[in-house]
Amino acid sequence: MAIIGIDLGTTNSLAACWRDGRLELIPGEDGNVLFPSAVGYVEGEGFLVGAAAKERLLTNPGDTVASFKCFMGTAKEYRLGSRMYTPMELSAMVLERLKRNAERVLQEEVEEAIVTVPAYFNDKQRSDTKKAAQVAGLRVERLINEPSAAALAYRMAVGEEDRTLIVFDFGGGTLDLSYVECFDNVIEIVAVAGDNHLGGDDIDRAIQSHFCKVNGLVEEKLSLEELARIRNLAEQSKCALSASGQADMGLTVGGRVCRAQLNEDILFEICMPLFGKMKQLFLHLLEDADSRVSQIDDLVMVGGSSRLGVVKRFLSELLGKEPVVLDETDRVVALGAGIYAGIRRRGEEIRDMLLTDVCPFTLGIGIRNRSGQDKNILSPMIERNSTLPASCRNRFVTTSDYQREILVKIYQGEEYYVDDNVYLGEVAIEVALKPAGQAWVDVQFTYDINGILHVSVENEMGERRQILLANQALSEEELERYSKELEKIMRPPMEQPENQEMLARFLAYFENSTGERREHIGAMIDYITQGLCSGRKKTVRNAIENARAWLAMLEETQDTREERLFDGRDFYDWEEEEEDQEDGEASRSGLEEEQEENDDAR
Ligand code: AMP
Repeated sequence: MAIIGIDLGTTNSLAACWRDGRLELIPGEDGNVLFPSAVGYVEGEGFLVGAAAKERLLTNPGDTVASFKCFMGTAKEYRLGSRMYTPMELSAMVLERLKRNAERVLQEEVEEAIVTVPAYFNDKQRSDTKKAAQVAGLRVERLINEPSAAALAYRMAVGEEDRTLIVFDFGGGTLDLSYVECFDNVIEIVAVAGDNHLGGDDIDRAIQSHFCKVNGLVEEKLSLEELARIRNLAEQSKCALSASGQADMGLTVGGRVCRAQLNEDILFEICMPLFGKMKQLFLHLLEDADSRVSQIDDLVMVGGSSRLGVVKRFLSELLGKEPVVLDETDRVVALGAGIYAGIRRRGEEIRDMLLTDVCPFTLGIGIRNRSGQDKNILSPMIERNSTLPASCRNRFVTTSDYQREILVKIYQGEEYYVDDNVYLGEVAIEVALKPAGQAWVDVQFTYDINGILHVSVENEMGERRQILLANQALSEEELERYSKELEKIMRPPMEQPENQEMLARFLAYFENSTGERREHIGAMIDYITQGLCSGRKKTVRNAIENARAWLAMLEETQDTREERLFDGRDFYDWEEEEEDQEDGEASRSGLEEEQEENDDAR
């Protein structure tokens, strides 16, 4: 049974797999690896999916749809024939074709897929993507973010040196920026920022408007078909421009020949408003990653629209460095998904890689607004860009006297008022009958690597209610397995016994020291505590490594101090002497007592 990686793109989709020690893109029947994400319907013939549908976009725009990925997770529907279809159903048709293609090429059944999604997809969009795969007969154990897949492919291409990257994934409908740290066998997504409605399609629209303006055409007065032809010309001219630097646009509209010139300077000007949005996303990303441009080793451009010279020009002006453009920018994400499919099958040729993602949106619960307004506000539990898995526990109190129940409503988003965020679900639990503010519940959020949010609410009587969200498609068995895994990750680094023990040793050194040494140890404790609570794997790892080295150093300097205090007498030789010398025994016991007293004081 094969596992394939799928890049379910806005414009094109691709499938890849790891076979006989090699990464392969899977071609369609026409030999092309790019499979247009388009679906059409022909009365009497049925559905057309892929290239055949894309061709009909021009001639029959009314019964052909594309770019539906932009509306995944929303209520938008498309009419095809006699019925309406959701983006989930249309995506399922594309996925089903990719599965069939792969089975034809691989000559075996494909049961499982690793599917990529934009990093900015919310839980509804992710959940709908999983459902689409399920409808297509594919089991999806793991969705991975498109930039994570790109970073995986980049690392495979350039080697395994430690690097800090920004992956700039500019496709047909979306722009995703990811701040990625690669070290050892870990690829850690530190922060993500993106826009689900900023892509090559917007550039086509801008060129379309430019063409209409130059020729005095009023877009609102043009027919659907005329607009589709202008849009198609705009896209062709844009692609021609990235090959030759110049494009002459010409089209007959309403019996009149219309023309316009397109070159790099004109396109740069036309794209200015889009570049402004991109700049904001960069600011957002660097702020969230607590970083600056000088700390970035490479900017990796992927996605079909990354081929545009004007985008490269804008980025090198913005960042002051030349971006790296991987060959075949539109295939990199699929290749990364294919590598990951190989990892899942434990391909011997691939070193086991750890891919960490971040939570793209803040997750929290609704609480009463203290200002007295009746609009509830969001109390964040897991902040956006926390590394997954992430876990957080907070206590909440009642707001009315002798209230019987607390209803914990769960939301996702960045807005102040809960109503402006995405509602995910709710859990109700009884509370002790007490005056307002005295009864409480502990709420724990755990968000795992598979994008499953586990919320547990416990009252002061020890009763617990739980809910698992964003994965209605999982079987009972899978839910149970995931729940077990969740148990393990619920304990953050700060609460793990070995780290607690390590901190206790620092605290003991702190108590036993004075002056400058004490100050230094205090600073070490601050650094380690902050590191352990940072929520970032690399920072946690650095904190632990440094803590170990410092402990060794403290032990060593302690020995030297003891040597000084005990007039240069070597402690261990002295211990050996104790068998022969009575007074040696007495002094040693004295020291142990002192140590025990210190232990008691702690
Ligand atoms: P993707 O979603 O990654 O497949 O990217 C699709 C987008 O890339 C569409 O907007 C295409 O018009 C655009 N694109 C594809 N090839 C080129 C090219 N050679 N130059 C500029 N844009 C391109």
